[in-house]
This record gives sequence, structure tokens and C-alpha cells, in this order.
Amino acid sequence: MNKIYLDNAATTPLSEEVIDAMVSTMRMNFGNPSSTHSLGQEAKILIENVRRQVADYLHVTPAEIIFTSCGTESNNMIIKSSVEHLGVERIISSPLEHKCVSESILDMKSRKGVEVNYIRPNQKGDIDLEKLEQLLMASEKKTLVSLMHANNEIGNLTDIKKVAELCKIHGALFHSDTVQTMAHMNLDFSDIPVDFASCSAHKFHGPKGVGFAFIRKASGLKGIITGGPQERSLRAGTENVAGIVGLGKALELSLAHMEDYTRHMQQIKSYAAEKLTAEVPGIKFNGRSAEMDNSLYTVLSALLPYKNPLIGLQLDMKGIAISQGSACSSGASKPSMVMMMVLSEDEMDHCTPLRISFSHMTAKEDIDALAAALKEISADFIIENTNVEHR
Ligand code: PLP
Repeated sequence: MNKIYLDNAATTPLSEEVIDAMVSTMRMNFGNPSSTHSLGQEAKILIENVRRQVADYLHVTPAEIIFTSCGTESNNMIIKSSVEHLGVERIISSPLEHKCVSESILDMKSRKGVEVNYIRPNQKGDIDLEKLEQLLMASEKKTLVSLMHANNEIGNLTDIKKVAELCKIHGALFHSDTVQTMAHMNLDFSDIPVDFASCSAHKFHGPKGVGFAFIRKASGLKGIITGGPQERSLRAGTENVAGIVGLGKALELSLAHMEDYTRHMQQIKSYAAEKLTAEVPGIKFNGRSAEMDNSLYTVLSALLPYKNPLIGLQLDMKGIAISQGSACSSGASKPSMVMMMVLSEDEMDHCTPLRISFSHMTAKEDIDALAAALKEISADFIIENTNVEHR
């Protein structure tokens, strides 16, 4: 059975060109980039070319790009080093962050005594920037603000330019988890005064196990992995040369086709919202995910009007790969923090969230198949409580 893949916020399939570029690198450029002989130096050049390419995309300098193993590592490094090496005493964040951010913050709270202030989002999942400003003004402590660009479960976008400007005015550092937006949107960090950001190649048809951290020059951030001079001593360890080449190829393809891909996914997303509304009575959409302007085009977060914890499994058996929430928490029995923020208690008790996430490879037929499968599954559920109180 050919699988229908609607879980692109968890990971994306590799492009053929990316696979070719990686295989050729593994075959031809196996030298250690730290070796001084020509085989080593050829591998080093491949890495530096991708670093330049990433820097050009973000309008920053190559020295500000540090390759890592993934988005999780980048976010851990930025948050932990901000506390350990930059003297951050307070972190302002929100309950919507990915676990690699929220758990890094909690780690710094318990081990280093950092004060943590959370901005609770409204029921649409929006972060109130007035509240942020009040918090920024309320303390003299050295502060790091950590707010993600696009939420991986509901797709809500936060205006990181405004956040960065507020942070500048009030002397705070600003980190944004940009894992879901890197290579999906134009990001100009010469215009957005963010201090730190993160990227993961597998979210835009690159390989798993490679990403980067953007670290603004002169921030003084240090690495948390030591033991070698690689990546300007900010991230010790022999570089994943083929992975970095794959990241570069995936970025090149994303940028070359960004307009077409964006248009395609916007059309697919609004088609999905319409089709599911027509086929699944009572379906709703969470946060801002059904709004085209305030939400990332890759994610549509739906809420089915009945409780069905087996929905993922049932769809899988019908050949559709899809998550209920983020991949990292989809195996967990506890509801995700993001859903707890945007759903009412009634909805949590009586409804089922489903995250539909797209790529440029998603076709209308995939959505039709999902709608037909959901229609069939939904028919087995008597919608007992049509008076579920929605937020
Ligand atoms: N941040 C966000 C918003 C994500 O969606 C993810 C992955 O799902 C990560 C961080 C972690 O990235 P990685 O899988 O590269 O560790």
C-alpha cells in the first residue's frame, strides 16, 4: 500500500537531489575536515560553502552559523550557555514551546536557580506582546526571552521582529526556535535583531541529524560540547560533512522554489480546511491554524468532535501517516501543553486533536483520502455532546 504522508511537521521526506549530494559526498569526500591534507581540506571547503550559503539566506556572516546535530541541540546550547556563560538570571518564555526549549529552561531553573516567567497565550494561541513588555520592564535581572517563530502543533506565527525590537529596547537577549520556519520563509536577520535562532534540516527535505544554531556575533555564547576546535570551538566533534552538504542542497531547493511551494501549500491547506469541514460534521480547527495569514502554511490543527485516542492507529491502518500532536509527544498518554492552552476542559474531555501537516509533495488526492477515511471513522461515533463548550 502506498502511504499517504501528512506528518511533515514531524519530518519531511528527503529530496532525491539531497540524497544524491549526500551519497556523492560520502563516496568522494570522506576526509576529516580537521585534517590538513587535501582530502581533509576538500571536506572543509564543502562545509564552508554551506555555511556561506546559510549566512547569505539569513543576511548574516558565516561566523554566526554553527552546525549542530539538530534543532534540539541548537536550542539546548543557546539556552544553557546563555545562563552558564552570559549571566542570564531570568528567562521569559511561553507554555507553547517545544520540549527541547521548555525542558532546557526548567533545567536551568532547577540547577542554576534561574527565574522563569511564562506568558500564557490566549485561547487562539497568541502571545500578548504587551504582557511581554510589562515583564521586560518589571525586573533589572539579565533576561533571555525565548519565543518560537511558528508553533509545531498549531502553526501559529509570532511576530519575531516585534519581539526582537522589544528585547533590544529593554536590554534583553532574544532566542527564537525557528525550526519550523527556516527554509520555509524568507528570514532576514539584518532586519530582525534576534540574538539566537535554530534550524533542523529534516524539516525541509534535508537529512535528520544535522542543523545549525545562529549565534549573533559578539554575543559571547560558548558551546556546551567541548573537546575540539571544530565550529570555532563552539561545538566540538568531527562534523557531519554529508549531512551539512544535504542541509545545503535542501536549503538551495527550498529557496529556489519558495514561491511555488508556498502557493501550493496554502492552496492545499485551505482545500483541506474546506474539504474536512464538508465531510466531517462538527470538525473545528485549533489556534490560528485555519487562518492563512497568522499561521504557517504547513500545519492545519483539527479538532474532531468525539474522543478517539486510536485515531492515529486507525488512519495508519488505512494507509495515512499523521500525528495527533508533535511527534515527540504523540506517544505520550498526557495531552500536550499546547492543546491544554488552546482547548477548553470540555474539549479536552470530549474531542480529539489531529495535526495535518503538508509539504510541496502533498496532493489534493491525499486530502481527499484523509477526508474519506475520517468520514468513515467518524460515522462510528455518535456525537453525544453537541454542546461541547469551545474556547
Ligand atoms: N523545535 C521545534 C519547533 C520542532 O518542531 C522540533 C522538531 O519537531 C524541534 C525543535 C527539534 O528539532 P530536531 O528534531 O532537529 O531535534
